[in-house]
Amino acid sequence: MRSTSPIDKPSAPEAHSANQGQLFIISAPSGAGKTTLCRAVRKHFPEMLYSVSYTTRKPRRDEQDGIDYFFISRMEFSRRINLDLWAEWAEVYGNFYGTSAEVIDQALQAGKAILLDIDVQGTIQLLKRYPQAITIFIAPPSLKALRTRLTARATDDAQAIERRLRAAQKEMGQKKMYRHSVVNDDLDDTVEALKRIIAGYQSGQAAPK
Ligand code: ADP
Ligand code: 5GP
Repeated sequence: MRSTSPIDKPSAPEAHSANQGQLFIISAPSGAGKTTLCRAVRKHFPEMLYSVSYTTRKPRRDEQDGIDYFFISRMEFSRRINLDLWAEWAEVYGNFYGTSAEVIDQALQAGKAILLDIDVQGTIQLLKRYPQAITIFIAPPSLKALRTRLTARATDDAQAIERRLRAAQKEMGQKKMYRHSVVNDDLDDTVEALKRIIAGYQSGQAAPK
């Protein structure tokens, strides 16, 4: 099993109140392009909030604390589990990742849109708590392309890349639970597809599937 998480966490009743903003969840196998795509989408929708996740993993060379992630210790992560501060959390590839419940609840109660980049297990947890969430799965064009991207990114060693590729095969099997699914082949086309999906919800019209 690649990771573990408390997927049976009960939902918070206050999270379902009527005055809701929009919660957009993007998931993808590692290396499929989520980070690149989320950056582009955020530039296009500057008013949309972004939930900066917390993680116990070490920062990559171009990552900044508080912007890409909040980098915290395992002890601090556990303390926040005990205080029930996470909307969801999961262990992914040996590191812990979590989403602040306060950040999501405040955004939704203020009627704002907020974007999350989290894994499949986190999405399952969040859908229990926020069933109205708009879920988008980003698929790589092929496992071969995914391997090329992970290798070119040069942030993981060969063993870690193999582990991520094995996990990707499993994650691809879960894309059916997402409301939308987009193949990230040409980057510009994918950014346009994501913009169309999000803009469709923001204008109150049905978004294309
Ligand atoms: P993730 O956040 O899903 O792990 P990244 O956004 O870090 O993925 O992308 C992994 C690598 O693939 C990066 O080097 C990125 O520049 C590259 N990449 C992303 N999308 C594309 C694409 N459509 N075509 C080619 N390379 C891409
Ligand atoms: P990375 O370490 O490559 O940035 O992310 C590894 C995986 O963790 C990705 O699938 C990413 O979507 C996921 N992830 C990032 N933040 C969170 C989070 O807050 N919660 C969960 N469940 N997964 C997350």
